[in-house]
Amino acid sequence: MLEGLSLNLNLGEEEPAGEPEASTEPRPEIENVIIIGSGPAGWSAAIYTARANLHPLLITGNELGGQVALTTEVENYPGFPEGIDGPELAQRMRKQAEKFGTAVEVDYVTEVDVNGPPFRVKTASGKEYRSQALIVATGASPRKLNVPGEERLTGRGVSYCATCDGFFFRGKELVVVGGGDSALEEALFLTRFASRVRIVHRRDQLRAGAILQQRARANPKIEFIWNSVVTSINGHDRVESVTLQNVQTGEISELPTDGVFIYIGHLPNNELFKGKLAMDEQGYLITDKLMRTSVPGIFAAGEIQDRHFRQVATSVGQGVAAAMEAQKYLAALEMR
Ligand code: NAP
Repeated sequence: MLEGLSLNLNLGEEEPAGEPEASTEPRPEIENVIIIGSGPAGWSAAIYTARANLHPLLITGNELGGQVALTTEVENYPGFPEGIDGPELAQRMRKQAEKFGTAVEVDYVTEVDVNGPPFRVKTASGKEYRSQALIVATGASPRKLNVPGEERLTGRGVSYCATCDGFFFRGKELVVVGGGDSALEEALFLTRFASRVRIVHRRDQLRAGAILQQRARANPKIEFIWNSVVTSINGHDRVESVTLQNVQTGEISELPTDGVFIYIGHLPNNELFKGKLAMDEQGYLITDKLMRTSVPGIFAAGEIQDRHFRQVATSVGQGVAAAMEAQKYLAALEMR
């Protein structure tokens, strides 16, 4: 779960954000398929299973809409040549899933019993479901720097979400940590508010793609601090500075700043499945080409099982594949 972020984004026009809410529809004793997670993989799995008449139940998790709902602008998702805001794209996906009959529970899964089918799913609001198939689309969350001051000052100048918190830094100076697409994209977004954005990167070459690099380098508000890592985040009630270490010279320096935005990659949200589903050494669920996990009847899609591509478009494709395979699995189960 992302700490210190504006969680529970309101993606449905008619729904208040926040607490888990009760579904008005009575649910069957045993569901056909439960989808866990509300990012692009979850919504696309929902659209396909709903259109296959499986009446899926999607349990959103705390980060409604997933990471894309925290992204400022998505420019590379096919069909949107002008780009589309992340929250709007997530909202459209949800609308499409609901249109075809997906039941959406704004709730958080706390326990999954993988001895099935049927599999048992318990939620934070005290509900318990049983389902013949599961599609796990719990995604990934931002990696932490794990330096002194980071946790204490989260929400007080330390943030992992420019879309949520950028507005509070109008006219301020900011540090962005990381050298990938996220760091550059969000640094560019932050220049709309901040007077100056310094990107601190541990190497002297960026990982980000060429277009973002060009834009960031051309932006007069952005400066790069190369070969450097943040070793602590300092301040009493709010962020006042970061301590930097040059990884080549070892030199330590203190850089005054009003805020720190951290974009150093992600960790898979795998807590529910530790010791239950096979994972690789980095904690991503292992799936085969048919999106099957190590337990028959449990499928996975999106960043919980993909550490290579991590694009909205690839997550959508994986969600579709998982849905199609879940459909086949359920048909075979019924035959038996
Ligand atoms: P990423 O590509 O994994 O980049 C993480 C960055 O953080 C790297 O530059 C890495 O440095 C640095 N880093 C990692 N651990 C660190 C640490 N402990 N201290 C300091 N720096 C650290 O992650 P991302 O930028 O979040 O992107 C994730 C995926 O989403 C990628 O596949 C990316 O292409 C995709 N994405 C795409 C777009 C887009 O297409 N517009 C936008 C956002 C994200 P090194 O370079 O030295 O390893």
